[in-house]
Amino acid sequence: MGLGANLGDARAALDEALRRLGELPGVHVAAVSPCYVTEPQDRADQPWFHNQAAALALGPSWTPESLLAALQEMEAAMGRPPEGVRERFGPRPIDLDLLLFENQRRNTPELTLPHPRMRRRAFVLVPLRDIAPALVFPDGEGIGAALAKIPFKIEGNSIFQGP
Ligand code: AMP
Repeated sequence: MGLGANLGDARAALDEALRRLGELPGVHVAAVSPCYVTEPQDRADQPWFHNQAAALALGPSWTPESLLAALQEMEAAMGRPPEGVRERFGPRPIDLDLLLFENQRRNTPELTLPHPRMRRRAFVLVPLRDIAPALVFPDGEGIGAALAKIPFKIEGNSIFQGP
């Protein structure tokens, strides 16, 4: 999954989200990427983000839908205004995205899997590659090939890929 934040103490928000994830029943946070500071995409008029990727080991009762619901509940508990009130692509105290769930696909109004925008976003793919360098997407493309298709620059822990 992908974590992001760009309001308040973003670094602390990511730590808090990871802690909360590990407290969900049947969820083990198996791997966590380094934290990157990333240039906002889609809308430039907002603070830079902190982004991280995490791999979860899940008990058998979890589904993509139940995990998404848990992530949304966690976003609300951490101060994110509900949909309809917040601005699309705008600043947020926490953003939790379901990127992949095994090789499953979804195409419902509530859930698209793999995450629809992940492959054009260096702020998602770079941390994901750190924890899953051999990842292959359900359509057969590898994560290295996906990254080679998009323009971005990494300097230290900063990722530049403007709007
Ligand atoms: P965002 O503002 O980027 O967090 O988007 C939240 C909206 O995207 C919610 O309406 C979700 O139901 C929907 N959504 C669709 N697919 C996903 C996904 N893979 N992970 C998280 N949210 C998703």
